[in-house]
Order: sequence, then structure tokens, then C-alpha cells
Amino acid sequence: MTGWIAVAGLGPGDEALVTDEVRSALAEATDVVGYIPYVARVAPRPGLTLHPSDNRVELDRAGHALDMAAADKRVVVVSSGDPGIFAMASALFEALEARPEPERFDIRILPGITAMLAAAARLGAPLGHDFCAINLSDNLKPWDLIERRLRLAAEAGFAMAFYNPRSKSRPHQFARALDILRETCGPERLISFARAVTTPDESLSTVTLAEATPEMADMRTVVILGNAETRRVGRFVYTPRSAG
Ligand code: SAH
Repeated sequence: MTGWIAVAGLGPGDEALVTDEVRSALAEATDVVGYIPYVARVAPRPGLTLHPSDNRVELDRAGHALDMAAADKRVVVVSSGDPGIFAMASALFEALEARPEPERFDIRILPGITAMLAAAARLGAPLGHDFCAINLSDNLKPWDLIERRLRLAAEAGFAMAFYNPRSKSRPHQFARALDILRETCGPERLISFARAVTTPDESLSTVTLAEATPEMADMRTVVILGNAETRRVGRFVYTPRSAG
């Protein structure tokens, strides 16, 4: 098989944040697959076929990429941010597990700048001490598990980054998440809402948990909760390197 698959992260939005490695893979590709808005970020050119697909069809998309690689195509599977963070890299390996002789596939994962890191850089350094990242979508896990992880992470004193915080189909869950955080972290804890970071639509705001409302987040927002030491300095938010 001369075909290959690169699962590539396109970064948070700004073209300047796409790595050279990802650019090279796209320049050599015959086919690009991914969610519609991510494929739209790839410039069309002769010899390149774009295969945009809808959300929530990750396994089909991964299977399609494997089929094309087996047919000697050079395939880039695109994700936003980093492909290993709540994105296509794991979906590709899930599809690969179902194939005979998985080792015959030439697969590379090309990292990208994930939303929480781009957002943290814009805000200052809110993830400067121990932190965790939690996907607040219950598409692929039960809501009970999300609540449990929120409580335990809050009790452990982690700063946290929340992906997929709030969608139209489940508007109440983020309100519930904020209630849990207020109970465990108290009203003064800083929470930042970073929307469409590094795009022309970017907006940033930092408030206390007491002031936070569910409407401050949508599906283009990554939410960053500070730890007990997180504070403001000038226009920045930072978490000191030491704790306890
Ligand atoms: N693989 C992606 C995450 C996909 S999940 C990454 O590494 O960034 C989609 C979620 O990522 C969104 O709901 C939002 O929470 C976050 N996100 C992606 N791009 C963003 C951006 N430019 N600004 C803020 N949040 C973003």
C-alpha cells in the first residue's frame, strides 16, 4: 500500500497557527476528509478532492479514510485544534481496530494547537499549575459521569478547561455544571469564557463564578476555570506556579 493517512490539527482558527508539518501533509494529499467547517479551511487545488461530512459521523469518516488509504490515496483527516483532543485521532484508531492487519496502514497524527492552549495564551496563564480538560458534551458519555468528574476535579483543586460547554440541544446542562462548581469552588473563583479564539469573531471575558451565567458560553467557546489561587494582574489572568 503506498497510500497514507495523516490526522492533522488545523489549530484554533488563525492560519499562522497551522504547523508547517500540517501544511506539508495538505500539500501532498490527494484527499481531505473532515467535518464541513474544518474542510472549508483547506484551500481547494487541482488534484485534491475534499470530502466534507456532517458532525457525529466520525466512525464513518474514519472508515472512509482507511478505505481510501488502502486504495493508495494520500489522505488528510482534519480536526480543529489538536486531532487528539476530543477529535478524529481516537475515532481513526477505533475504526482501525476493526480492520484486519492494522499495521499495514501508514498513519501519522500531526498535532495542532488545541483551543484551551490558544485561549490560555490570550488570557494570560490560567493553566500555569495543574489542570484538567473536560468535554461537557454527553454525546459519548452519560451526564452523571460528567457531574462526578466536575466535583472530583474541583475537590482536587484543578484548574479546568471545558470543551463543548453548551449547545442548543442541551442548554440546561451547563447551568447545572456552573451550580456544581459554585458549590465546590465558592462564588469568588475566576472563570473565563474564550469564544472563537484567534478568529475575527474572538471575544474574551473573565468573571467570578457568582457572576457567571450559562449564556456566556456556546459551542464556539472554551471555558477556563481557575484554581483557588488564580488571580488578575493588569488585563491578564494567571495561576501561580506553586500551590498549597
Ligand atoms: N480538537 C479541538 C476540540 C474539538 S471539540 C481542539 O483541540 O481544540 C469542539 C470544542 O472546542 C468547541 O465546542 C469549543 O469548546 C472548543 N473550540 C474549538 N475551537 C475553538 C476556538 N477557536 N475558540 C474557542 N473554543 C474553541
